[in-house]
Amino acid sequence: MSLERAYDPEWFRAEGHRLVDLLADYLHEAQAGTSLPVLAWQDPERAWDRCRVSVARPDVQELWQETLEQAIHLHHPGYIGHQINPCVPVAALAGLVSDLLNNGMGVYEMGVPGTAMERLILRETCQRLGLPESADGFLTSGGTLANLTALVGMRQMAIERYPDSDPQQFTLLVSDQAHYCVERAARTMGWGPGGVVKIPTDARFCMRTPLLGPAADEAQAAGRQVVGVVGSACSTSTGSFDDLDAIAQFCRERNLWFHVDGAHGAGLAFSPQYRDRLKGVQHADSLILDFHKMLMMPAIISAVIFREGDHGYRTFFDDAHYLWSSPEEQQWYNLAQRTFECTKSMMALKVFSVLKVFGPELFAEHVDRLMEHAEEFARIVDAHPLFELATWPQANIVCFRFRPAGDTERPLDELQARIREKIVRGSKFYIVQTRLRDETWLRVTVGNAFTSRKDFQRLLVELVSQAERVGAES
Ligand SMILES: *Cc1c(COP(=O)(O)O)cnc(C)c1O
Repeated sequence: MSLERAYDPEWFRAEGHRLVDLLADYLHEAQAGTSLPVLAWQDPERAWDRCRVSVARPDVQELWQETLEQAIHLHHPGYIGHQINPCVPVAALAGLVSDLLNNGMGVYEMGVPGTAMERLILRETCQRLGLPESADGFLTSGGTLANLTALVGMRQMAIERYPDSDPQQFTLLVSDQAHYCVERAARTMGWGPGGVVKIPTDARFCMRTPLLGPAADEAQAAGRQVVGVVGSACSTSTGSFDDLDAIAQFCRERNLWFHVDGAHGAGLAFSPQYRDRLKGVQHADSLILDFHKMLMMPAIISAVIFREGDHGYRTFFDDAHYLWSSPEEQQWYNLAQRTFECTKSMMALKVFSVLKVFGPELFAEHVDRLMEHAEEFARIVDAHPLFELATWPQANIVCFRFRPAGDTERPLDELQARIREKIVRGSKFYIVQTRLRDETWLRVTVGNAFTSRKDFQRLLVELVSQAERVGAES
């Protein structure tokens, strides 16, 4: 009789009400940031032991409570680590609806409302990005898959553009700060070690675009067919924006595909104040955007956009005819014609809920707040005698490090790593680290709009005191 009980609407009602109360209380506590640790650190074996004990007790509320206790709390003001931002609660409620409905989205009938919402979201996004009427796209599961999808589309066009070239000899130009998934995509497509050429970056970690020409010539001379350039908007480690206008012009001159990896930063298009950081994005042949990076959405919701919407249909044209009555026809409402996924979640409902309830201005407000707070953090770091910035932030990502006066016993790199470990285990703040030009730097992404000046000041105090502890341990 378990099945009947498992699907009993009254079980759902009772447990659901309790769950919403639990989560609302949790949100109060997490956002206040006073009683809850940002992350109650435990080693993996301990987490595994707890999980094995827990599974034997059939109490769902206990499970949810335990999950809350062990998770990292993105709504806590001390959460300023990775790029994923705290989920806006209306999107979490939408997630409950979309999970229960479980509409599979691949073909029209399996996701009627979500399919229409997806179209509206893409239109709104294309318009904000300044793309022409011909632009169109769809949602997919994450920036990694979104980049791969766009680049497979690019490859398809390149096969038509360079009919005499061997597709395994195709090459992409990217900055040395591009996300690793771009290189992975090239490798997945079988382009081998020469499939990606990395263009060096300047002091602000932006692509040195004058080097594109010589790099392209060199690759061509080595027998490769250069097919496109990827601009980062922005890069993952430091949040640096490549000069998209310059890349667009280079691509125009050489008749190359221009792809923009806007996973992190393309959300700036919603902000009248900051959208000029994306200058040139309107020339992209394809681009991607993660709604879970700066736009408050739960992971993972990404957009893939083609300047000529038609290119999105040509990517996978010859597959899976059994799904559609007339596969040669471009049907905007049969999304799996264009996505890697067959089944995908009705992710559009989450974005659409925000657009409907709060309007696109909420995205602007959020982006502006994060950008302003990141600048404020950078100013505080810059003014502090014991810290230095890697570069002035261009997005909501700030890289910096502890740099005591005079000689230190420990190499600076090791010092940063040790400090970070203590910060994470101290459970008041969550920050990360990154490697920049073979040096270790601390890294903060101001992804929580409610992390403010006093939190930043407390973080620096905490960092200094942990640094002293590290020093005492030597
Ligand atoms: C985060 C990120 C990605 C990967 O996106 P996922 O959604 O994590 O798969 C790709 N490119 C850039 C620039 C990113 O910041």
